[in-house]
Amino acid sequence: MAGLGRQPLDRAEKRRIQREDAKWIGKPLVLNRGPRPFEANVRHLVGLLRDTTRPHRASEAATFAQTLYERTLPSLKPPPVACAKGCAHCCNTFVTIIPAEAFRVARHARSRDGVAARITETYAATSKIAQHERWKSKVPCALLEADICSVHAMRPLTCRGCVSTSADVCFRIYIEGKEENPPFLLEYNSVCTATAAILSAALKLVGLPYRSLDWSGALAAAVVSADSEERWLAGEDVFAAVEVGSGTRAGTPFDNMIEELAANIAPTL
Ligand code: SF4
Ligand code: SF4
Repeated sequence: MAGLGRQPLDRAEKRRIQREDAKWIGKPLVLNRGPRPFEANVRHLVGLLRDTTRPHRASEAATFAQTLYERTLPSLKPPPVACAKGCAHCCNTFVTIIPAEAFRVARHARSRDGVAARITETYAATSKIAQHERWKSKVPCALLEADICSVHAMRPLTCRGCVSTSADVCFRIYIEGKEENPPFLLEYNSVCTATAAILSAALKLVGLPYRSLDWSGALAAAVVSADSEERWLAGEDVFAAVEVGSGTRAGTPFDNMIEELAANIAPTL
């Protein structure tokens, strides 16, 4: 695997790389033009995640990745989409999140009457159903209220990247269970994958769990106590019982990409 076995760089070389990183950190990603912008943003997140003075540094890292997504997307000039407020067929299916994305939403949920209980009930109703059959339960995401995402500004990367050109096709897939190809837009999906890889690789490099999890289960685990983020950062696997998304398990293409990205960056830290 690329990068494995590379010797750590000397201090001067690391400093030079970190100085160069400044021109890419938080800036719109340029996709398909080499790894430097990706590596710079991963190094930035590693620094943030190692700053133990920040009790909510996992949430901060997730917010950074989500902001990077929003900054990058317009530069790709994506075509018009069918997605609109009140369209929510896709919120009835299995969704994954990167572990760090759960805590900010869980804190928000705890501040609102009845939402934590709804999260727990939703997970109880869906956790035994296979991921690819989750849509059959017709149990929507616990954060969906009157067909509107109640956490739109802080929704996970997966939800941002699930964007379609046809609500009718989405209805047939997500509600009727028809086997059609989702008319997802490549631009959204590519930016979602790139920013998810950056966040996941940073978590891996600081030794935190990084594989994507069932959103419903991760929320249910994070919402039970006010200090779930602090305990997770301290090494307690608060998501131990939550299923890993099938697309990010060990050996999948996405997981291999994280392995390679992390292995290439490790000598530069
Ligand atoms: S992905 Fe499909 S179901 Fe979801 S908001 Fe967009 S058009 Fe609606
Ligand atoms: S977080 Fe929002 S966009 Fe994502 S599945 Fe839940 S309601 Fe839908």
